[in-house]
Amino acid sequence: MAKIVIVLYPDPTVGFPPIYARDSLPVIERYPNGQTLPTPSAIDFSPGQLLGSVSGGLGLVRWLESLGHEVIVTSDKEGPDSVLDRELPDTDVVISQPFWPAYLSPERLQSAKNLKIAITAGIGSDHVDLKSAIAKGITVAEVTYCNSISVAEHTVMQVLALVRDYIPQYKIVIDGGWDIADAVSRSYDLEGMDVGVFAAGRIGRAVLERLAPFDVKLHYTDRYRLPADIEEKLGLTWHEDIHDLAKGIDVLTVHAPLTDETHGLLDDDLLATMRRGSYIVNPARGAIADRDAIVRALESGQLAGYAGDVWFPQPAPADHPWRTMPHHGMTPHTSGTSLTAQARYAAGTREILENFFAGTPIRPEYLIVEGGAYAGTGAHSYQSK
Ligand code: NAD
Repeated sequence: MAKIVIVLYPDPTVGFPPIYARDSLPVIERYPNGQTLPTPSAIDFSPGQLLGSVSGGLGLVRWLESLGHEVIVTSDKEGPDSVLDRELPDTDVVISQPFWPAYLSPERLQSAKNLKIAITAGIGSDHVDLKSAIAKGITVAEVTYCNSISVAEHTVMQVLALVRDYIPQYKIVIDGGWDIADAVSRSYDLEGMDVGVFAAGRIGRAVLERLAPFDVKLHYTDRYRLPADIEEKLGLTWHEDIHDLAKGIDVLTVHAPLTDETHGLLDDDLLATMRRGSYIVNPARGAIADRDAIVRALESGQLAGYAGDVWFPQPAPADHPWRTMPHHGMTPHTSGTSLTAQARYAAGTREILENFFAGTPIRPEYLIVEGGAYAGTGAHSYQSK
């Protein structure tokens, strides 16, 4: 029998379960590229329930315990006295979500003598030190595509919120005001702007498709160029790299994984090459941006706005400068954990666990690291080219 540690964000401050705003979720048969949604043998929750917090347990706890496994669900993940650190030495499986990541550093992986698989209930496994996982033969898997469209929708929302300057206008209403001149003094139309997408994988491509009807001029770069018919259909201009992309656009959206190549990419030098008053929306990973360079660029006016939902570390400390910098539209890391997305990644996590227990292959698209090497999506999106 296995010991499984599931690290999840804390329950709602108003109590669990919450009162739900809607009674059901739309049924989606396939992802846009034809990939099937998760196919576990069964699920032990109703789609639409809050699954990502401790009491939700990703809808896995009853099922795992009925199989005789030991299950520990906790949000206590930082510091040597944390539940995570205490349990790691004899744990076989660690599951966490990028929103509240169990950072599996080289030191933690060293102490996790029994660890066989780290599962990301979501997308983005940079919280696991992948080089150590490779060296130690630990499998790393995530639920590819589960929330890509969720993030694409959030991205479009934040692009519009920044360019039209929605958030201060909303605040004027809440504060009882009607100060139209104040409200519009930083408000523009998106139509006609040059919008650049950095990394056109599942999320980036969905952002391009969703923004095309806004009559913007679309640009992108990725290590792999999109098929010519897609470029033509969406009217895309291809750029060799982010440096070439950044200098000719008004809005940049960021959708690459966090790797050695992308870490700190949005720095003072890159920002200085952008048009004055550009906007950035980064729902990929906080550490792709140089934290203080973003603050400086907003303060100087080089950037007109910055949004996204990813920070480093997570949870972000109360004094993180992105909470108070000017003209930001940050959310906590929520874009990929809508109730809709949770149903998909909870089911996908169960599918991965069922394969793991049965010793049957995990779908290649879910694999990041396996058998001491990058595999599947990991080989495509994380491994240096
Ligand atoms: P994906 O694997 O489909 O796409 C990643 C793309 O990045 C690939 O096309 C790859 O070729 C490209 N890429 C990788 N390194 C690059 C580089 N150095 N230069 C240019 N292109 C590069 O993944 P996805 O589903 O689109 O997700 C992308 C990332 O978004 C994830 O890795 C994760 O970090 C983040 N994400 C965030 C949330 C959230 O809730 N905010 C949710 C899901 C994913």
